[in-house]
Amino acid sequence: PLTLFWFRRDLRLHDNAGLYHALKSGHPVLPVFIFDTEILDKLEDKKDRRIEFIHLAIHKLQTQLTQLGSTLIVKYGKPSEVWQQLSDEYYIAEVHTNHDYEPYALARDKTIGEFLNARGTAFYTHKDQCIFEKSEILSGAGTPYTVFTPYSRKWKETVNDFYLRSYPTETYFEAFLKTQPLEIPSLESMGFEAVGQPFPGKEVRKELIENYKERRDIPSIPGTSRLSVHLRFGTISIRELARKAQTLNETFLNELIWRDFYMQILWHFPHVGQGKAFRPEYDKIEWRHDEAQFQAWCEGRTGYPIVDAGMRELNATGFMHNRVRMVVASFLTKHLLIDWRWGEAYFAQKLLDFDLSANNGGWQWASGSGTDAAPYFRIFNPTSQTQKFDPQLVYIKKWVPEVSSFGYPQPIVDHAFARERCLKVYQKALKGL
Ligand code: FAD
Repeated sequence: PLTLFWFRRDLRLHDNAGLYHALKSGHPVLPVFIFDTEILDKLEDKKDRRIEFIHLAIHKLQTQLTQLGSTLIVKYGKPSEVWQQLSDEYYIAEVHTNHDYEPYALARDKTIGEFLNARGTAFYTHKDQCIFEKSEILSGAGTPYTVFTPYSRKWKETVNDFYLRSYPTETYFEAFLKTQPLEIPSLESMGFEAVGQPFPGKEVRKELIENYKERRDIPSIPGTSRLSVHLRFGTISIRELARKAQTLNETFLNELIWRDFYMQILWHFPHVGQGKAFRPEYDKIEWRHDEAQFQAWCEGRTGYPIVDAGMRELNATGFMHNRVRMVVASFLTKHLLIDWRWGEAYFAQKLLDFDLSANNGGWQWASGSGTDAAPYFRIFNPTSQTQKFDPQLVYIKKWVPEVSSFGYPQPIVDHAFARERCLKVYQKALKGL
């Protein structure tokens, strides 16, 4: 009998919790990855670089496994059908995989687990993508935290070497089944195309982390780690990164804690992942369903340079600096009074690092409906944000070179007018005024 390890958003051999447990199962281990058509079929952009990123990571895993005399099974299809085939083809004693907290993944894993159990195969799942999950960090009263600062305090009190140590997978590599290499389906055969643009690297520069606090809010410089896509797909280990953060920079560690925080919010309050406001009263806001203005925002044509620069950076690279994400999200929801769910969906399509919990958390924070949200009457002023964080317009000119010429559009809405309108609409919904 064999043990199968199912890779999903944990695309590495090193320090991988589920893989470690699979390798220790006592059976030869064969890893598997599924290009899931339930997900791929919904992607309209056939040049979606996330698929390219995954495909590259899969090739790398295949090379490493081939060097170990083993292989990776790579399938393309619906997970339920693929598992049926695998279970017909191999005698599988155990399947191991890592937790995924998104609603689709939870439902999928429940179905697959039940199917495998019915066939006499044990299905084990493990925590790997965060330091603390589910109910590991609760308040004294045993309830989930809904505000970041007390959550992070408890997180720091609870964390210790046990939670941060690496899983020594390398020690058990002998357990991989010795077999001939199998083929990986090409991107083209799955209907996708490579763009060939480089992805952010995954080295963690000590100097960058040490200076993070002072540099992280300036979008014109590489002051943040750009590790988000690697954390998204698990090409780096959160435990290793958190250990570095602990010794190098507390502000950086806090950002990693935000990631855990939003994951547990999605876990405890699944309505946020189903298009509902974290605070239900915010669902009474009368959003303006203005398609033309939404399109102008998407394309970076609002006449507000910092907003347009951010959207153009996103469209061109799949990345946007965090400070600018906050500005563009606030602008869409408060200045244009367009439903945060529209912005959330657009980011979900475009961000290389798209993650349901962090994206939803960020959007609900910006619209005021989320945990920790600033009071609704605090409305970012794009001009003062520019003065503070891009005073020389270095970032803006990179993405909006025509900013000081006649060709640049007039502001889509007047700031003072938009502010007043927003206050009125929010007050009506929240206070019945
Ligand atoms: P760094 O500043 O170097 O931070 C290190 C890591 O910490 C990040 O890679 C990320 O994993 C984590 N992190 C940092 N800030 C946050 C945060 N506020 N919430 C959760 N995790 C955080 N982040 C995503 O990973 N996916 C998303 O889909 C996403 N959507 C967002 C939408 C909006 C409207 C906003 C305001 C923020 C969003 N963020 C999202 C959070 C943040 O902007 C990105 O994580 C960050 O910009 C990634 O760049 P970096 O790797 O250089 O981050």
